[in-house]
Amino acid sequence: MSEVIQSLSICCPAKCCINHCKTCTARQHENPYPDRYDGSRVDCYEYWEEVIKRMEYAQRKGCETVMLTGSNEPQQNRRWLESLYLAMKSLPKPFLNIEIQTTGAFIDQDYLLFLKKMGVTTLAISTFNIFDDEKNREIEECGDKNLNIQELCKNAYEIGFNIRICVNVTDHVFSKDFYNGFEQASDAEKQERIQKASAEILERCTELHANQVTFRKMWCNPGTPEADWIDANCTYGNSLLDTVKVTIKENGTLINILPYGAARYDYNGFSIVIDTDSMAKDENNAAIKYYIIRENGKMYSSWDSPASIVF
Ligand code: SF4
Repeated sequence: MSEVIQSLSICCPAKCCINHCKTCTARQHENPYPDRYDGSRVDCYEYWEEVIKRMEYAQRKGCETVMLTGSNEPQQNRRWLESLYLAMKSLPKPFLNIEIQTTGAFIDQDYLLFLKKMGVTTLAISTFNIFDDEKNREIEECGDKNLNIQELCKNAYEIGFNIRICVNVTDHVFSKDFYNGFEQASDAEKQERIQKASAEILERCTELHANQVTFRKMWCNPGTPEADWIDANCTYGNSLLDTVKVTIKENGTLINILPYGAARYDYNGFSIVIDTDSMAKDENNAAIKYYIIRENGKMYSSWDSPASIVF
């Protein structure tokens, strides 16, 4: 089977993350990649040569989208983002579609304008609760005590970013009154509430100017504190995922099937994807979902496997 690549993820080098999300994927596996970028040096030629070579390789494989990400928040390293911008510009055909995966921590209007200058087109905002910032920040153990998703989306919308809301689906995804009297409700009433909640979440995505929405099932690596937390906190979240799946099949229109097999639906003016395999572990789907350039400047095809090295 020929390789199909959705995007090229490039990992931002940073010593640690400003957040400590309860479900953090990066903390659930080893990341044995030495940081070969050293922003304190005037030159980082070797690192950048390695990165440029791999960006070109990904392009030759048909990859047209870059995702800025990492075991941290890419906005933590402004200098690296500036250098990456120059490195990308040096490509014979620079990437046109550049996305950033972020909780939005510390991204104010000035920082959004900076990201725009760096060529970023899509803000992929990872959230645990889009109704209640306090709850969202609590689950992210967010470094930014003022993170306000509505304000971030409003600013991003006004500046002209494409907005993707990535809903991390756990039992904390619902609006404030969802659990009032929930335990006493019958199974049928609980299901009815989940149905109503799914409509509420989709409505809220419209209010937040979403162009795209991804519902993400939490990945877990058994034996880690994050996996224990996910085990104890995803019962009704998983029912919500099933409900949204039915809703978009019944009321949405299929747009296309993404390279790795997930369906993308048009629903009420934005697109929806349900991502149940964010780490690309489905053995029935042999497609490579993405390439990843790690902090050592080398390329891999799996987040949690140094053995997946491409070169
Ligand atoms: S922002 Fe990302 S890397 Fe940082 S703690 Fe949250 S999930 Fe982990």
